Amino acid sequence: MSLRTVKVALAVVIACFALAAAYISVLVVERQDALKQVSRYNVAWGVSQAVSEFLRLEQRISAFGVPGNLIDKGEIELRLDILIGRAELLDQGEFHEFLRRDPAHAAVIVQLNQALEQVQALTPQLHKPGAVKRAIAILSPLDAKVAGLASAANLYGAARVSEDQNELLRLHQLFSATAGGLILCGFVLIALLVSHNQLLAKAHCDLRNLAANLQQASVELETANAAVHAANGELQTQNETLQSQEFELRRQNDRFDAALNNMSQALCMADATERVIVCNERFLSLFELHSSDIEPGTPLSDVIARAAQSNGLEHLAQIYGEQRPLIQERRGAVFVHGRSDGRTIAVSHRPMAHGGWVATYEDITERKRAESQIAYMAHHDALTDLANRVLFREHIERTLAQAKRRGDTIAMICLDLDHFKTVNDTLGHQAGDAVLKAVAERLRSCVRQGDVVARLGGDEFAVLQVSPNQPRDAAALAARLVQTIGAPYHIDGQEVVIGTSVGVALSDEECFLPDQLLKRADLALYCAKADGRGTCRFFEAEMDAQLHARRALELDLRKALANGEFELSYQPQVSIATREVTGYEALLRWPHPERGLVPPSEFIPVAEDTGLIGQLGNWVIEQACREAAAWPTGLSVAVNLSPVQFRNRALVDIVVRALQSSGLPPARLEVEITESVLLQDNDSTVDMLHQLRALGVRVALDDFGTGYSSLSYLRSFPFDKIKIDQSFVRELSTRADCLAIVQSITRLGASLRMTTIAEGVETEEQVRQLRAAGCVEAQGYLFGHPKPAHELAHAGPDAAATQAA
Ligand code: C2E
Ligand code: CA
Ligand code: CA
Repeated sequence: MSLRTVKVALAVVIACFALAAAYISVLVVERQDALKQVSRYNVAWGVSQAVSEFLRLEQRISAFGVPGNLIDKGEIELRLDILIGRAELLDQGEFHEFLRRDPAHAAVIVQLNQALEQVQALTPQLHKPGAVKRAIAILSPLDAKVAGLASAANLYGAARVSEDQNELLRLHQLFSATAGGLILCGFVLIALLVSHNQLLAKAHCDLRNLAANLQQASVELETANAAVHAANGELQTQNETLQSQEFELRRQNDRFDAALNNMSQALCMADATERVIVCNERFLSLFELHSSDIEPGTPLSDVIARAAQSNGLEHLAQIYGEQRPLIQERRGAVFVHGRSDGRTIAVSHRPMAHGGWVATYEDITERKRAESQIAYMAHHDALTDLANRVLFREHIERTLAQAKRRGDTIAMICLDLDHFKTVNDTLGHQAGDAVLKAVAERLRSCVRQGDVVARLGGDEFAVLQVSPNQPRDAAALAARLVQTIGAPYHIDGQEVVIGTSVGVALSDEECFLPDQLLKRADLALYCAKADGRGTCRFFEAEMDAQLHARRALELDLRKALANGEFELSYQPQVSIATREVTGYEALLRWPHPERGLVPPSEFIPVAEDTGLIGQLGNWVIEQACREAAAWPTGLSVAVNLSPVQFRNRALVDIVVRALQSSGLPPARLEVEITESVLLQDNDSTVDMLHQLRALGVRVALDDFGTGYSSLSYLRSFPFDKIKIDQSFVRELSTRADCLAIVQSITRLGASLRMTTIAEGVETEEQVRQLRAAGCVEAQGYLFGHPKPAHELAHAGPDAAATQAA
């Protein structure tokens, strides 16, 4: 049932209620009327009362007529009045309906009233005779009529009662029916209300669902809206992209045109029928064509047909000939075409997706030239034009493989220039480069055809020699190299002398790898240098062990330095004239727990090579100053300084600090340097020496006469002392030239106001000769071996006593 139907039904039921209520009120009114009707039972009673009063009056009048009666005339008059009242009542109210129904009854009432009037009129003379008779005569004819009226009234009353009862019954039934109807309506109403409620609940639920659905629908709508919006945006973006693409396409087209005509390569595109689609300006110029010769749509064969007309077209015809198989097989390829005029054209041929092809033609003549130049440069040393390490390695590999096949022996000769760094430092890099070039030239001149010369870097060179007479040929070549390279060079008007150390390794069954061979030659070179420069060494199996030994020494040296294992010994220097000790030379000692006393000649070069000499040298300076400070004031101390120490600009500061902390006056400190110190970065070294001298420290030139013996060194710095090397002293008595050298040195020293001191003096004879030569001081075992500070003469008990005195 729908809500609407329920509502209509409800309205109907409510209307029914109203109607029933109205009707019930009508029924109530009616019922009240009916009840009022019941009072009509009085009609019968009233009539019967009137009848009984009439009969009583008649009886009283009759009785009055009887003589002797005790009836009072007043009583008769009262009865009459009552009757008259009754009769008047019968003409009023409900009696009207009764009388209206039957005119006879009304007539009776009229007759009664008339009779009573007559009787009333008679009443006052009633005592008179006949009056009673007359009165009875007036009344008696009415007896029957009055009785009849009473019975009619009774009948009427009964009829009315039943009528009213019927009416009441009907009303009761109606009322009950209506009440029942109302109750039914009530039930219907309740049912309808329940159903209405249910429907309402259902409707509410439906409404809620509907609302939810609506909400979801709204969300979906919104999403759809957003999607539409996004799609719209996308569309717009696409539109814009399309526009920009179109713009870009146009621009690209322009660029393509520009690129096509500006590209360094010539380009030609042909369709499946071998007609030209497009070609660029470079294509025209490369093949000496005019733009009118080859318009889009021109068959290539037509162009080629004119090959005889120009060289360019002839080349094109040749290249096209090479392209033909590619065109037929629909294959891409890159090939190089060597033109008869010496130029090289690189062709890149590509078939196109829908038939036809595109090809680029590039004149790569220059590039090829540049490439081969680069390749050459990558394999050659730019300065000397010798093979570099890369090319040399390739040579070694190749030569080794060949030699192995033929059973030949290869000699690997490694060279390292001696003192080349000094040339660079003193004469500048340009002079250094010139020397390197000259060395390369000389190397070339020494080798035979087939030998390979290379510069491995810096001042390192190598020669690869193939010869059936090994090791003889290698030894000969090595000797030749040492000699040739050792000859003086003339660079910018200056004479430069450099030597070379040579290491040689020969290939054998065990050594057939380039790296191995190089390593062996390098090891031999290393040993050659260690032996003293300007020498040649062949690789020996023990060299490896020597290298290991050196490494071990290096390691021990580091440890010794960290553990303070070094000591200083002091060797006296005496005045030849007085034989008095003037001072001591500090000499480094390394008493090693396992190696024993390691000589300085063994560990100092290692310390120099590894840079450890810096730290070690600083310690020597400090220690010598500290110990010398405790000596008698007239005694000085001489400290040896390695050339490597001069590379440290802080050397002067180190000396200053050592003097300050020990309290030794600078005048009592002497530093000994060798000529090699002056070989390196001269200005800075000389500057440092001047600073030391300015402090008051004296400077001695050690081992004079060995090294370079260039007198110019003596001029380069005002030394305080020249130490004549012990090699001259040793052979003083046996070799005349030694004496001559010593004599000239002492003379030179004297003229330059430098003290001269002879080293390694062991005999009195040597002392005599030295004195004769004019030498001032001497040092050697004759006067004392190097000793620790506490064993020196002045430190003994006697010396202490002398000093005290
Ligand atoms: P050097 O400066 O020429 O030292 C003199 C060397 O000759 C010392 O050898 C000394 O013991 C030795 N000698 C002295 N008198 C005689 C002699 O009558 N006959 C012989 N045959 N030899 C004598 P040493 O101590 O073995 O020193 C060798 C070299 O080690 C020194 O030569 C010096 O160049 C270097 N050296 C020693 N101590 C130091 C140092 O503290 N610093 C630096 N940089 N080098 C040092
Ligand atoms: Ca010395
Ligand atoms: Ca010396």
